Amino acid sequence: MIAGVQQLTHLSKIGLGIYTKKRAFCGPLWVQIGVSNRCNYRCVMCWDHPTFVPKDDPYPDSITSKYYRNNPGIDRSSKVMDFALFTKTIEDLHAVGTRRVDLVGRGEPFLNEDLMQMVAFVKGKGMYCSISTNGSLLTEQALSRLVGEGLDQLIVSLNTGRPETYGKIHTSEDATTFFRIKEALVGLNQLKVGKESAGPIVTLSFVLCKSNFREVGEMVGLAQEVGAKQAIFKHAVLYDGISFLGLTEEEKGELDRALIEAEQAAARSGLEMKLDPPIGSFLPGSVGPPSPMEVYGKIPCTIGWLFALITADGTVLPCCHCFSAMGNVEEESFARIWRSEPYERFRDNAILLPNSGKPVPTCRCDVCTFTKFNLSVHNHLHPFRRKVFYPGQREYNPAQLLSSLVLKRTARGPKRGRPR
Ligand code: SF4
Ligand code: SF4
Repeated sequence: MIAGVQQLTHLSKIGLGIYTKKRAFCGPLWVQIGVSNRCNYRCVMCWDHPTFVPKDDPYPDSITSKYYRNNPGIDRSSKVMDFALFTKTIEDLHAVGTRRVDLVGRGEPFLNEDLMQMVAFVKGKGMYCSISTNGSLLTEQALSRLVGEGLDQLIVSLNTGRPETYGKIHTSEDATTFFRIKEALVGLNQLKVGKESAGPIVTLSFVLCKSNFREVGEMVGLAQEVGAKQAIFKHAVLYDGISFLGLTEEEKGELDRALIEAEQAAARSGLEMKLDPPIGSFLPGSVGPPSPMEVYGKIPCTIGWLFALITADGTVLPCCHCFSAMGNVEEESFARIWRSEPYERFRDNAILLPNSGKPVPTCRCDVCTFTKFNLSVHNHLHPFRRKVFYPGQREYNPAQLLSSLVLKRTARGPKRGRPR
């Protein structure tokens, strides 16, 4: 109850900051922490560890290489976040009201050997915790520990519904890994039986490209088979060097029709499908999804009040497509960085996007993946100035998001003291 009131107050303060276009009156709603730059995979659509760049070569002039170029001190291939820095960061975030932490990576989070203790620490603070993983290191022992620690959500990138395609996308792997991950996820359901928190919920993620777009039906079937709650479908971001993965207009239409069918099948079993771009965008007669800069010609970006990204070396970035460091949590507190002059300037630039018509300096707003999120925030805060870009536009439901992801689950999650 008290946690619920605190979160509602927090959300109101965020809303007030955005609405008045003033400073941030409290910390972000949720934060992603990159606990590992190291990765054991090489995937065709990856911009951090792409298959076409030999391990020791300089990275191409594509999206995230700009970040690494501006941060030459960071080791892109092997850096993992120290546990001491992690716990300090969580303490900082908790103090400013943040209650959701996603453990992600520019690599594979399970390659950080402190991952389990990190989950335990976050849950010990009563915060919502998720992990995004390629699934390759999901052993029964690891899953059992995660269930015990009260992990809330496990997001697994499978990117295929067919074993024979697995190795075409994850080029370092083959069908054996696909079967092993599937078996582990099926086994997770047994591990959860009778446990207090009933978590983690499982989300399967599929990045769609030339190699797998005809497998949508099987992807939904796979999600149902392993007992996933959600399936996320996204088009691959075609950065430099992987344009060959793009779909023709005709193929996009074919994909859309398959997604419509798959969504009906998913609904019958209660599987929630999340689609980006929205379904139907490429059907004949549709004008297609708006480009990010079209969207930001009409609405501002409010990410600077809601979200932050912290990389393995402690660098704080405002979003996944911005490369100018706001500060480093190893050197100063998150609260200080969050209220710093560079962050205030970032918020000013982002909120003025519709006026400037240009991307925020040092950000790739032209490939932004937060458009749907920003659109929802705008439409909820301005019900009489709603923006609708396509028929059937769906938005996040903030009440549902808050109650399902933050309030109820953290309130009933395991309560424990300091992690061991
Ligand atoms: S698993 Fe993730 S980080 Fe690793 S290569 Fe694949 S997409 Fe990149
Ligand atoms: S890329 Fe630009 S528009 Fe998108 S979230 Fe970042 S700052 Fe905002």
